[in-house]
Amino acid sequence: MTTTAEIIQPLDQMFLSHLHDMELSPEQNVALLHRMLWREGYNDRIAGHISARTPSGSLLCTPYGLGWDEVRASDVLTVDRGGRLLKGHRDVPIAITLHLAAHEMRPDIHVVVHHHPRWATAWAAAHRVPPIYDQLGSFGGAGLMLYTEFLGGVDDWDVARRNIAALEGAPVALLANHGVLVLAEDVVRAHLRSVVVEHRCALAADVEQIGGGQPVQDDVARAMGSKTSDGWPLLFEAMARREIDRDPSVLE
Ligand SMILES: [Zn+2]
Repeated sequence: MTTTAEIIQPLDQMFLSHLHDMELSPEQNVALLHRMLWREGYNDRIAGHISARTPSGSLLCTPYGLGWDEVRASDVLTVDRGGRLLKGHRDVPIAITLHLAAHEMRPDIHVVVHHHPRWATAWAAAHRVPPIYDQLGSFGGAGLMLYTEFLGGVDDWDVARRNIAALEGAPVALLANHGVLVLAEDVVRAHLRSVVVEHRCALAADVEQIGGGQPVQDDVARAMGSKTSDGWPLLFEAMARREIDRDPSVLE
């Protein structure tokens, strides 16, 4: 297990610091990420959680009891590395232990997303990794894994650590009969990887529905994945702008 020798990155490498003439706080980044992903299919009622490690070592996380489409910056909780509430007016999700273990064991990771988007959850239930059928379907590198031994009891430290260790460095995992787990260095990569996995799963389901198709060749998929490995800041900014236009209170 990797110990928590902190990898301190400048704030603007983990979070979007500016959006045109606006300065964005880490809490505003996290609130926007919730809303942006809700629109991408991360919309299983009040389920799921996001956590983001700050340069001080504390974690920002989803407040329990809100849908991701209603989270505002002031709703985002701050917890310590043991999951104890430091700041915020809502409850800490019980399953935050899975996130705490991820941040403890993966100092290269700053943002963790867990949810049950429709199509990723369907492939996770089928215990199958969907083929890549288009340009937005690849992560490259360690890629997408199916984790069939995902252990419940996500408020248990030992179980949470075993779950994270089993991912073996994969940035995105389908958790069998459960949902998806995304690990990323920053909010931009967390957004793109979350978008990619649900897009890939939805497209592959469509392709199967019409009788099957031809997956992208491995070398092409790897090349595509290398382009998305750094995230897609312009996509993040464009989607963030839309959320702010729709409901500026996301930043409050
Ligand atoms: Zn879950």
